[in-house]
Amino acid sequence: MSKFVFVTGGVSSSLGKGLTASSLGRLLKSRGLRVTMCKLDPYINVDPGTMNPFEHGEVFVTDDGGETDLDLGHYERFIDENLHRDSNATTGQIYSSVILKERRGDYLGKTVQVIPHITDEIKERVRRLGREDIDVVIVEVGGTVGDIEIVPFLEAIRQFRREVGRDNVCYLHLTFVPFLPTAGEHKTKPTQHSVTELRSRGIQPDVIVCRSEHPFPESLKRKISLLCDVEVEAVVSAVDAASIYEIPIVLHEEGLDDIVCRLLCFDGPKYEIDLSGWEHLLERVNAARNVVRVGVIGKYVNLPDAYLSVVEALRHAGFGQGARVEIEWIQAEEVTGMLAGARLDGLDGIVIPGGFGERGVEGKITAAGYAREHGIPCLGLCLGLHAMVVDFARNVVGLAGANSREVDPVTPYAVIDLMNEQLEVIEKGGTMRLGAYVARLKPGSQVAQLYGEETVSERHRHRYEVNPRYRTRLEESGLVCSGVESKDNRLVEFIELPSHPFWVATQAHPEFKSRPDRPHPLFGGLVAAALERSEARTPRLLDLNAVG
Ligand code: GLN
Repeated sequence: MSKFVFVTGGVSSSLGKGLTASSLGRLLKSRGLRVTMCKLDPYINVDPGTMNPFEHGEVFVTDDGGETDLDLGHYERFIDENLHRDSNATTGQIYSSVILKERRGDYLGKTVQVIPHITDEIKERVRRLGREDIDVVIVEVGGTVGDIEIVPFLEAIRQFRREVGRDNVCYLHLTFVPFLPTAGEHKTKPTQHSVTELRSRGIQPDVIVCRSEHPFPESLKRKISLLCDVEVEAVVSAVDAASIYEIPIVLHEEGLDDIVCRLLCFDGPKYEIDLSGWEHLLERVNAARNVVRVGVIGKYVNLPDAYLSVVEALRHAGFGQGARVEIEWIQAEEVTGMLAGARLDGLDGIVIPGGFGERGVEGKITAAGYAREHGIPCLGLCLGLHAMVVDFARNVVGLAGANSREVDPVTPYAVIDLMNEQLEVIEKGGTMRLGAYVARLKPGSQVAQLYGEETVSERHRHRYEVNPRYRTRLEESGLVCSGVESKDNRLVEFIELPSHPFWVATQAHPEFKSRPDRPHPLFGGLVAAALERSEARTPRLLDLNAVG
């Protein structure tokens, strides 16, 4: 039977609850336990995919086409397991299914209420994640205790322990211990209040993880232990780490996995930890010396969380090659005509990420063209592929005014368009192409060489596609369609330009599948090409010095 860890947060949002939960997942997995994770989100959106990335950051897509909270990306990257659409549940989804059941007459004339109907639905969703082949389900409850929206979730997880047994559940509460310079000491009061709030919902935490900027004295742990009624060993201090990859190690050194395993009765040598894989990763992270500067040409650059998986995938690719990737955020609208060179020349590589709507797309097209003409390594993702195809159609094939119909509904050459299943152009698109699709790669192409395979699966989230009507003309002008969707053999999934060091794009979102210790081949290819460009430039600077 699976056991459950519930992670709640107090005092403030943005304390890193997702990363704490993910790190615990990593530690438990390193003890040989089979782990899965889930996020309960108190917001009412039924579909996190409808939220504005400005407000909520990236929408993470799972293999089965779930559009989920970005924390699932952290989970997948840390525990190295693919999650599912069911690994994320929002208040909206829970209410929708309860209302659907009520309409169907499932409740047989009963009064449908938050307790027990909503709480039962929450518990049912959590229970379903516990399977034969799973030892521990880590459930992160979004939001902060004290929020109005969180109450049904807290009530559900409180009841849960009664139902599955005391030794099968562990409540972990994340708080903040601020240092007050005027008082010259750390303060535990916010933690005490937060635990009081949690207790008012009937939950006594078993473990308290305290975020703090600096290490705090042991005496403070004893104080929290006494006042919040948890064992001293169960007060874990989580001091700010140099990088997110340090967090599992910091928490392990503080004994987090020890205490959780003890509480859940995973005892004995069988559960000895082996962190060597993660430690090797950290060695690579810390050894990365060569700096490469990669520009991300985006629309939501003021909220880098909107491109979280892209940033992570770039970093992973760097770790694999001893490089530290420095990201330069470039507002797509600022990349125009004459100014493009000023913004892009100093970069070693460019990523044109995904996005929706018309704003900033011209800048992305300009960036794609500038990279193509000046040999700057460039990776296009989804909308990025659209921008690169449009640039190529306009400036190489000579189709003036070519565009994506998403951006210009009356373009004379809709090289990117909406299509139905028969690949006919249609006026109105229905749903998105979501989740994993398998593509067949062109043998010998750059993309096939990078993957080292000829059949690959990547996650999608888009409506528009390369219009097959223009494919021959694009190819005759030198664009290589290096991968097509495997079932119909026609939908373009990857493109490349053989005459360029790296001008590659995909209709998919490969960033979702990159893992810290298993960088994604396309990001690896971009960073390798960017490293070459940066190395080729360095001697020139040295030569200048020599002349001086
Ligand atoms: N907006 C484009 C489409 O719907 C691209 C989507 C994306 O980049 N994820 O096809």
